[in-house]
Amino acid sequence: MKKIEECPSSNMYKSRKCNEYHNFKLQQSLDYEKIGYDNITKEMKLSYKNKAESLLYKMSNEEIQELIDLGNKSSQVKSYLSSFLKSTTKTDRDIVKDILTRNNMWRIPIDIVKLAESEGFSIEQVVMDGDGKILINDIEKIIHVNVNTPKSRKKFTLAHELGHWYVDGNQSSQQIVACRNDNISPARETRINNFASELLMPFELLYDFLKKIVKSDIDPEANVADYIADEFEVSSSAASIRLSKFVKEVMM
Ligand SMILES: [Zn+2]
Repeated sequence: MKKIEECPSSNMYKSRKCNEYHNFKLQQSLDYEKIGYDNITKEMKLSYKNKAESLLYKMSNEEIQELIDLGNKSSQVKSYLSSFLKSTTKTDRDIVKDILTRNNMWRIPIDIVKLAESEGFSIEQVVMDGDGKILINDIEKIIHVNVNTPKSRKKFTLAHELGHWYVDGNQSSQQIVACRNDNISPARETRINNFASELLMPFELLYDFLKKIVKSDIDPEANVADYIADEFEVSSSAASIRLSKFVKEVMM
């Protein structure tokens, strides 16, 4: 019986996740070769890119650093991987703390419009596909928000678009990020949504608020997320998601 030979480099990394990423990229190049580079469609490329990004988002900074150090990679790939490192060096909570402190805006509900404006963004409500878009050039930073969405959604969109600036970083002086667009992976959008959730419901403010309501006479049948939604002026689904993440943060 013929023994299937293992690729000699398939376990070159210490971390299991690095090996998984490495093997995925290896498989991608084998697939590309088999299909023929000229026959690879935009959809195929996008699906490989999304899968690769979802693996990267699960990695720690140390693991991504291992990929950078051990992999034989072009400078382009290295700078791509480094951008993931940079964006995860600070936690969302750290970034939000900095923003709220420098604008002196530790108050519930977070006035996201005022915050964006005092951080130098212009906000325009426009008729558009999708929820929002951020446009950056050397002179201005503009956020487009879909005029035809409910108020709580507009606020979340605004916080989300700010996330593309603060989390993704301002690597280039000229950029447009149109959300729900082909060039952004769902993993990245989820990452940015986590930031938006922290910005609208910062850990410290949520902690104090929850402490206050457990001490008060709340209806035992009441849905805590609804209290959060009312107080922080967010949708109840945004409040529920934030609450379950908050519980994890506190328990771990
Ligand atoms: Zn986005």
